[in-house]
Amino acid sequence: LDPEEFRKQGHMIVNFVADYYQNIEKYPVCSQVNPGYLQKLVPNSAPDNPEPLEKILQDVKRDIIPGITHWQSPNFFAYFPSSGSTAGFLGEMLSVGFNVVGFNWISSPAATELESIVMDWFGKMLNLPYSFLFSGGGGGVLQGTTCEAMLCNIVAARDQMLRKIGRENFGKLVVYTSDQTHFSLKKAAHIAGIDPENFRVIPTTKANEYVLCPKSLRLAILKDTKEGMVPLFLCATIGTTSTTSVDPLRSLCEIAKEYGIWVHVDAAYAGSACICPEFQHFLDGIENANSFSLNAHKWFFSTLDCCCLWVKDPSALTKALSTNPECLRNKATELNQVIDYKDWQISLSRRFRALKLWLVLRNYGVTSLRNLIRSHVNMAKHFEGLIAMDKRFEIFVPRKFAVVCFRISPSVISRVSTTFDEEQVNKFNTKLVESINSSGKLYLTHGVVGGIYIIRFAIGASLTDYRHVDMAWKVIQDHANVLLIPGSF
Ligand code: PLP
Repeated sequence: LDPEEFRKQGHMIVNFVADYYQNIEKYPVCSQVNPGYLQKLVPNSAPDNPEPLEKILQDVKRDIIPGITHWQSPNFFAYFPSSGSTAGFLGEMLSVGFNVVGFNWISSPAATELESIVMDWFGKMLNLPYSFLFSGGGGGVLQGTTCEAMLCNIVAARDQMLRKIGRENFGKLVVYTSDQTHFSLKKAAHIAGIDPENFRVIPTTKANEYVLCPKSLRLAILKDTKEGMVPLFLCATIGTTSTTSVDPLRSLCEIAKEYGIWVHVDAAYAGSACICPEFQHFLDGIENANSFSLNAHKWFFSTLDCCCLWVKDPSALTKALSTNPECLRNKATELNQVIDYKDWQISLSRRFRALKLWLVLRNYGVTSLRNLIRSHVNMAKHFEGLIAMDKRFEIFVPRKFAVVCFRISPSVISRVSTTFDEEQVNKFNTKLVESINSSGKLYLTHGVVGGIYIIRFAIGASLTDYRHVDMAWKVIQDHANVLLIPGSF
């Protein structure tokens, strides 16, 4: 690596990315390419000789950008946001620049120490109970994704339970979820060896806004315990993927506590909002949970990947995930003076993720971060108000954060459609989303809850402003106008 060459080429890349942001609104938000498009554009094998960066960047512009769905576009309202920020990008650059592999403390002391400091800072901002912080006997770790965090927790819970009841009872372990819990839990349970027959999915209803009902949980647990099964793990969600519903933590955790169940609180999307005091009531009861995670790469202005996981009992994790090969032996570890994060996660190698979170926290400060979150929530409120004024649409569930769930009302569809049933209503709404997305002007995605297709409008891209929300609403209305002409569908 030649530092001067790096400086020169690095500036070219920074300029390229800055230009990309300057022009981002010109691109179709959702990529419009067909599957396999790139194979036709690039050579069959890698070049034998070096190619200049200028040429490579030209190809990025010509061949790669058309195949990109622009998650950072202000007109991106799909899935959950992946909110980038200048500080997040710069922190990522610093981390990539150092390119350390901080699996244990000695492999890069600052990587470990900054991570534990930043996790305590962030935990305090969220008003997490002291017991989740290093300063209170718990602690936090940065993982890649919630899927990884979920797997680590379930393995920790499994081993903790098996130490108590004996490995011969493995087949009795039961995991509890709702039908709105993210599918990553099912995958984690599968990898952890939980019998698929012992994976309880508790149904939710529209009447209770798709939350996990404590009464139903208790009934399921009672049935299992009567049959000699062993309740192991419960995942409660703050901000479910489809409707951003919030499970009633206090009641769920109290029931779980009675039965010694490990509770993981998955707040992948909505957890970030809890830095604002007005959202912290959603975490009420969390003191009885075992672990809590959120994705800072979703709604906390940090680039992918950055899943923040806090646990009350780090030893449960380390007992399940520790390895101690000769090649990694060192004094600090042996004297028990340090954290070795390799023992808190699946992989050995790990990135210096704390730098980007540190930059975000320091470069913006708590007050601005709260205001950024609030600005997204206020834009979502505004969007909700626009929908409320057009009687052809209905808000599907009350909005809690910055995602609005809505659809064209069944009553409107019944007036323009020859056949009318729930399936036809779903088809209409599917068609609306498809036609909006193919315009390239904005990007929206959907969810299906209780068999009902809903349109989700998720605000969180850092560049989004009221004018983008207003424009998006106009595009949605225009496409609905065409679709609702009798006989057009
Ligand atoms: N949990 C919830 C509630 C989510 O919405 C998502 C993704 O959107 C996940 C977990 C999975 O997150 P990850 O991609 O970080 O594994």
